[in-house]
Amino acid sequence: PTDINALADEYLRLAYHGLRAKDKSFNAELITDFDANIGKVNIVPQDIGRVILNLITNAFYAVKEKSKSDIEGYKPTVKITSKRTPLLGEAVGGFKGVQISISDNGNGIPKKILDKIFQPFFTTKPTGQGTGLGLSMSYDIVTKGHGGELQVKTKEGKGTTFIINLKIND
Ligand code: ADP
Ligand code: MG
Repeated sequence: PTDINALADEYLRLAYHGLRAKDKSFNAELITDFDANIGKVNIVPQDIGRVILNLITNAFYAVKEKSKSDIEGYKPTVKITSKRTPLLGEAVGGFKGVQISISDNGNGIPKKILDKIFQPFFTTKPTGQGTGLGLSMSYDIVTKGHGGELQVKTKEGKGTTFIINLKIND
């Protein structure tokens, strides 16, 4: 049983400070909106922590890239939220769960690559900056490892949200 809000908050701050240690000029607004009524969730904390870290790392990269375009008034922002969901996975009969979402206001994911991002080794990053394994690993951890769902919503030019749906076994 894990306090998923604390886990998410810890990895958000870890990722942010890690990135700022390497790149002093990096700046982003971090927004958290955690549902205090979630309670503890049965997960493998280091695995879900890894997923959260992968998604946050991608989000920071996306806002950093967009910052380079010097768009007037652009404020790089990464948001992480949690909430209880009444019904998930309707396709498999439905279950109660929690949802963690990680949003960025980067450039979004182009339609033509959207069906490839969960494939192992798919990356659009320059050599040395990405392995293309983060999302495929995250997908396996959430689906095969936890019986949950990992979804993506994106709008070109506007940003991206990854949604982790997990079951609550109570
Ligand atoms: P990597 O980060 O090593 O490239 P990932 O599996 O984490 O590998 O992501 C695969 C690709 O999906 C990225 O190279 C990028 O093109 C795209 N992507 C993932 N997350 C985002 C995001 N938040 N915004 C824009 N593109 C993204
Ligand atoms: Mg990645």
